Amino acid sequence: MSQVASDLAALLPGKVVLPSEETYTTLTSSYFAQQGRLRPACYVLPSSPEDVSIAVKKLADTPDAVFAIRGGGRSWNPGAANIDGGVTIDMRNLNMVDVDEETSTASIGGGACFGDVHAVLGPKGLAIVGGRNDTLGVGGFLTGGGISMFSEERGFACDSVINMQIVLASGAIINANATENNDLFIALKGGQTNFGVVTRFDVRVFTQGPFWGGVVQYPSSANDAQLAAYEAVMSAETRDPHVAVEQSFLFHSGSVEEDAEGRHEYSCNLMYYTKPVVDAPALRPFMQIQPQGYSTMRLGTLQEFTGELTKYQPADKCLNFVTTTFRLVPGTGLSSKILSIWLDFTRKVHSGLPGVDLLSSLTFQPLPRQSTTPTSASSLGIPPDSHKETNRMLLLIANYWSSPEHTSAIEGAAQDAITAVDALTEAEGLGVPFRYLNYASKWQDPITAYGPDVVEELWRVSRKYDPSGVFQTKMPGGFKLPKCHFTSYLNYGCIKDAGKDG
Ligand SMILES: Cc1cc2nc3c(=O)[nH]c(=O)nc-3n(C[C@H](O)[C@H](O)[C@H](O)COP(=O)(O)OP(=O)(O)OC[C@H]3O[C@@H](n4cnc5c(N)ncnc54)[C@H](O)[C@@H]3O)c2cc1C
Repeated sequence: MSQVASDLAALLPGKVVLPSEETYTTLTSSYFAQQGRLRPACYVLPSSPEDVSIAVKKLADTPDAVFAIRGGGRSWNPGAANIDGGVTIDMRNLNMVDVDEETSTASIGGGACFGDVHAVLGPKGLAIVGGRNDTLGVGGFLTGGGISMFSEERGFACDSVINMQIVLASGAIINANATENNDLFIALKGGQTNFGVVTRFDVRVFTQGPFWGGVVQYPSSANDAQLAAYEAVMSAETRDPHVAVEQSFLFHSGSVEEDAEGRHEYSCNLMYYTKPVVDAPALRPFMQIQPQGYSTMRLGTLQEFTGELTKYQPADKCLNFVTTTFRLVPGTGLSSKILSIWLDFTRKVHSGLPGVDLLSSLTFQPLPRQSTTPTSASSLGIPPDSHKETNRMLLLIANYWSSPEHTSAIEGAAQDAITAVDALTEAEGLGVPFRYLNYASKWQDPITAYGPDVVEELWRVSRKYDPSGVFQTKMPGGFKLPKCHFTSYLNYGCIKDAGKDG
């Protein structure tokens, strides 16, 4: 047993799990993607902020100790939420959800998943701007931004967070909000793993009854009609704030409907109108497209919809997400060119890997706008007047496959596809620098994309709340603050020498 694991076991009896124990295997295999299943020296399972404080302080004070924080365990980037040979703090026992209906606030443990949240709020007719999937963790989602079915109306999920309780590297447990430690509050909304461990989020709740939505599948012959409908709805001068559409094009080998080439290509919309309007007129451009493979459109509750989406996402596979952002301008044919790029790369990698079991998707969705409430400031680098720009779209390529031996080919093809898309959107003057951290692949740099002023400020906040750089050096997982060209970084005594990698 490593020395730090045995020290932690003494400090937190019954809350440290070693590789020799049966629970260790269960904890490792509970990561959504295979890439998350590393082998730490031990897992620590805190059940209070004080437990987190004890663990973080011990790890910070132990030379050579390294650690990771696990929330919902959804990351596909190896080492983001687990660590070979180090200590993984698994936050999932901090999963309480309390609602104060008078102040319209939910207090949510930093290790809760959205299934926990919806289960408490749903029966009360309440909701938060939260995940579209029950096993998604609030920890990573809210600190990376968070895109919800309600984002068109209410912005990124982190805009609705009004307070965070955080354990700093020193072990101190502090609050950050609009009036207390405000710089840290803003930094954590987009800065995710760089400042501390969030043990509680206090989030604004709102009333939400059943609404209209579901999933509609179309054959690939409908691709042009699908893109035209998306352009028309998303580039409207004033978009209906109750419309939420994720439009995905899919490539599925190993599907029962595959063709002679061993592939099945189709598209699929996750569509919602967040009011109880049956056959919502705002979604008709999509509903009129025929034929439809199947449709689950109905009036339903948020819990029913997130339950449905949870079923569609295959766990236990190898997984990779990669993202970019662009402007959707009708008449440029840009979406169609992007679709061709993705299809070309996907078909090519599929035909080069005989027997591969691959599910690949290309998804378009609008980039949420930055709302302007007093608590909504974030570090995402999206200007508060972005409501004037209705046409910024997020693109996500997601790949699921079974065999780790196919990883480098599939990840390489996805990287090449995004690089080609970026070259195209740049050439057409329609590129947008923002890269959504919660969708980014390990080779992308979403924090640099927030812009130099934001990065400079994030370094200042890091130096103030974590003067020894614990979250930069001893907790390597996640997207770290960029290490080059920033005076704050260069002045950061303790890690000055590490700066040569930039
Ligand atoms: C199938 C699938 C569906 C998704 N759907 C959506 C969606 O609808 N909308 C959207 O915006 N995103 C979505 N995502 C992306 C998701 O938001 C990110 O992967 C997010 O980071 C996951 O958070 P987690 O806590 O579940 O994961 P983890 O892997 O546990 O954590 C992600 C990162 O956050 C850090 N972290 C976790 N908890 C804390 C904490 N309490 N304090 C400090 N750091 C912490 C971890 O160290 C890690 O680096 C989806 C991802 C997948 C795989």
